[in-house]
Amino acid sequence: MKIDRRTLRSGEDFAAAGLAEAAVVDQVAERYTVAMTPLLAKLVDPADPRDPIALQFVPDLREMETAAIERSDPIGDHAFSPVKGIVHRYPDRLLLTPLLHCPVYCRFCFRRERVGGPEKALDEAELSAALDYIRAHEEVWEVVITGGDPLMLSPLRLAAMMQALDAIPHVRIVRLHSRIPVADPDRVTEEMIAALQVERATVWLAVHCNHERELSPPAIAALRALSRAGIPLLGQTVLLRGVNDKAETLEALFRALVANRVKPYYLHQLDLAAGTDHFRVPVEEGRALMRELRGRVSGVCQPTYILDIPGGHGKVPIGPAYLEDGIVMDWQGGAHDYAPDAQR
Ligand SMILES: *Cc1c(COP(=O)(O)O)cnc(C)c1O
Ligand code: SF4
Repeated sequence: MKIDRRTLRSGEDFAAAGLAEAAVVDQVAERYTVAMTPLLAKLVDPADPRDPIALQFVPDLREMETAAIERSDPIGDHAFSPVKGIVHRYPDRLLLTPLLHCPVYCRFCFRRERVGGPEKALDEAELSAALDYIRAHEEVWEVVITGGDPLMLSPLRLAAMMQALDAIPHVRIVRLHSRIPVADPDRVTEEMIAALQVERATVWLAVHCNHERELSPPAIAALRALSRAGIPLLGQTVLLRGVNDKAETLEALFRALVANRVKPYYLHQLDLAAGTDHFRVPVEEGRALMRELRGRVSGVCQPTYILDIPGGHGKVPIGPAYLEDGIVMDWQGGAHDYAPDAQR
């Protein structure tokens, strides 16, 4: 699969690819950043007006409507940012955001009002201040590098940052969150993988993937190279109306991830970012999907259904619950008494 066209960024690009009307894209692009890699554009089925890949990346006028519940800082990062590029909400782990650009711009992005051009990346002094913050906080066991997409850094800059983190004794885990293996797998080069391999800390990579069809042959090859390099892989998926809101779609995705050595980690309830209401699936429906998955696929294929509580209160699993008031439900919906605690 060789694709050598450039990333779609303008209305003209999207129109030339037959994916959208130029005027629509340009209107949305005035407010939110737009980009789709040629690989993902190629994966769209032009005969399907509801194609799950197109829905995720092709701008839509519904983004221009902000629902009453939506907010500009949906998960309350701002209040927990002690220095630029750090979000420190939990004692033992923090986010490091060295840059705010991505290979593609997901139309439902939770940081959509902040992500954008390369000029928003931390400069040398800012990165060094962020690293100083981590050095000074010995309770930080895990550094989660996100963005933007940290694999947009050049292998040289990425290696320097990884080495700096590896030199901090209390940092035992460095976890990167990325859409690159799916959106632009050609960036996963030997140099990139070498940059991720450090001496002491353990490096994990969480791959953002929402539909089985995102796992193209080059994406699978990139995942394989990462896993061969000894990097454990996690999957993170956002529950999205029209993209993956069917049990069979989630089943196919989680099976494909596990078959490619990616452990489904979180199924995210969509954050309340502006202009994303058309993607929102109610929590009750999400729970019903999770219940259905319990019977369909093995435990290895099950992610945790998670909500990032608006206002900066952190992430919590939101069900479904199987045991309540002495009654436990089995995977087929049968109810059984289970109250040994009451007899103690
Ligand atoms: C999501 C997040 C983390 C990581 O949370 P996990 O549940 O460990 O994946 C850490 N810090 C912040 C601020 C976060 O938003
Ligand atoms: S890759 Fe992540 S940060 Fe970038 S646009 Fe998509 S959801 Fe947002």
